[in-house]
Amino acid sequence: MANPLISDRNVDFLLHEVLRAEELLAYPYFADHSKETFELALSSARKLAREVLWPAYKPMDEAQTQLKDGQVHVHPAMREIYAQFAELGLTTATRPAEVGGQQLPLLVTTLTNASLIPPTPPPFRFLGLTIGSAHLIEAFGTEQLKRTYMRRMYDGRWTGTMALTEPQAGSSLSDVQTKARPTADGHYLLSGNKVFISGGDHDFGENIVHLALARIEGAPAGTKGISLFCVPKKRPAEGADLDAETLPLVDNDCTSAGVFHKLGWRGLPSIALNFGERGDCRGWLVGEPNRGLSYMFQMMNEARLMVGLNGVATASAAFHESLEYAKTRPQGRPLASRDLKAPQIPIVQHADVRRMLLRQKAIVEGGLSLIAWCARAADDALRATDEDVRTARHKLLDLLTPVAKTFPAEKGFEANALALQIHGGYGYTSEYLPESWLRDQKLNTLHEGTTTIQGLDLLGRKVVEGGGASLQALAAELGNVCERAIATGDEALKANADALQQAIAAVGALTMELGSLGLSGDRDGMMRHSADYLELFSIVVIAWQWLLQATVATEALAKGARGEDNQAFYRGKKAACAYWFAAELPRVAQLAALCQSGERSYEDVKAEEL
Ligand SMILES: Cc1cc2nc3c(=O)[nH]c(=O)nc-3n(C[C@H](O)[C@H](O)[C@H](O)COP(=O)(O)OP(=O)(O)OC[C@H]3O[C@@H](n4cnc5c(N)ncnc54)[C@H](O)[C@@H]3O)c2cc1C
Repeated sequence: MANPLISDRNVDFLLHEVLRAEELLAYPYFADHSKETFELALSSARKLAREVLWPAYKPMDEAQTQLKDGQVHVHPAMREIYAQFAELGLTTATRPAEVGGQQLPLLVTTLTNASLIPPTPPPFRFLGLTIGSAHLIEAFGTEQLKRTYMRRMYDGRWTGTMALTEPQAGSSLSDVQTKARPTADGHYLLSGNKVFISGGDHDFGENIVHLALARIEGAPAGTKGISLFCVPKKRPAEGADLDAETLPLVDNDCTSAGVFHKLGWRGLPSIALNFGERGDCRGWLVGEPNRGLSYMFQMMNEARLMVGLNGVATASAAFHESLEYAKTRPQGRPLASRDLKAPQIPIVQHADVRRMLLRQKAIVEGGLSLIAWCARAADDALRATDEDVRTARHKLLDLLTPVAKTFPAEKGFEANALALQIHGGYGYTSEYLPESWLRDQKLNTLHEGTTTIQGLDLLGRKVVEGGGASLQALAAELGNVCERAIATGDEALKANADALQQAIAAVGALTMELGSLGLSGDRDGMMRHSADYLELFSIVVIAWQWLLQATVATEALAKGARGEDNQAFYRGKKAACAYWFAAELPRVAQLAALCQSGERSYEDVKAEEL
């Protein structure tokens, strides 16, 4: 039985036909795998998604998490779900065998996650945070931290968090104030307040491990004075055998001060956390002092791709549900029909409803294609045998991360609104699900760096770094896809390829112009339209992904793809590609003109004039 909230066929298409997962088997790291083990990972995730996760969505949405007597309580289903995640080995799926991992490619796990998230996102966030924080200890922690914490997080007994945000340090992490005082015993004593810590407390599992940013007494101001600490909710009792099966634990003075009552994602507690109210909150330094933020970027970059996947997943759930609704909801008659006795037609037969569906498809499948492409690039960056390949892929991944985080979140919100719109008045009620997916989706534009912060990162750093080398590498990557599209002999694809080449050239010229402004000292002028720049850049990147998918579909049709469903699938890819190039790509020129114009209405307008 298929997952009703994501197209399994599309996932298989990306995995095998577009991104050719089997090629990864040539890397020694993946040598023990095969097409069969990839399929097994996918099919077990799909089963869990259908049978366990999907039924939990509505109950979790209806019950906000609660703080009672200092303890946060989550929906009881979470315990069973998390145990199943661990049993399937999801906590260590990509990690090396020496830490108990399965060494699966990120491409495969990203696409299994694409099945696991749409049915109900909160449980997966617990998992993602635990994997990311344990990975920080694996990469930068001491052997003792690995033995004590990482091991128990990877085996699913303990969960993890990322504890960065403070009331005065949200987007601006340089203002982190949580203090860490060294002691003669090797640990630090932490004091401070964190807010919005997802999974920061709960009542399933034995322990919670916070990977927290704090400032060692006397550290320099700004980001160069931030260190990373492992701060458990409960710490091992003095003298305990760290390898014991059941480790005796004592309270570590991390107080849950409140849960936030949220618009969506209600199954996931986001809490205010106080360290050291009694002066006994112990933390252990991870890595070297003052390098904490650079370490944390490992987790943030992983989390940003995960947020992008959340955006795709939430839009996908709503897209597929609204498609089914449109096929079954009768309303009105064809425009040309005047016969009131004729039966009503399903709304999917109205062209404008199909516009809303095709736009959702373009956003959902364009976004998923980009996220999957990034996952494959990460596999190459980490595991390729050729160092040049690793370096080149790493640079491209770095460049594309702000887009992969933001496009699915921002455009996913639009897609979710279209799904609601298709339900007419019913969509505005809580009897139907589109309203809850719309609420869930909004978070993705906020956490892991708001859209604004992603725009500043892209234009202020990523595209200009190394004299624009990453952007040139991206242009070359697009050029390869254009050549492949032209080689199909398909006239429409050729026209799309020409348009894409022009668009990427325009992005290059615009970037040079804005970069020169920055070099001349006019940083405000350079960054004035960073949000518009991010948007136009995203349109081009998604056009590339659509051209790639449509090219693969065209090649498959030319080879004589069998079966009406299969052919319809490939034709759908071509239709969505044609739509993106006709409806979205022309906006690049308009947005580029805005960035170039020096237009400064929102820079000049004063707060009292708003
Ligand atoms: C449900 C939820 C879960 C979260 N989970 C976690 C978690 O697990 N761990 C964690 O550490 N944090 C978490 N966060 C915190 C999240 O990362 C922050 O909320 C986010 O980084 C924004 O910070 P802020 O809320 O302080 O907003 P602010 O930084 O105050 O931003 C407010 C607005 O001002 C804009 N702005 C800020 N600075 C600038 C600037 N320099 N230039 C232009 N515009 C700017 C922002 O884009 C935004 O629109 C979570 C948040 C939520 C809502």
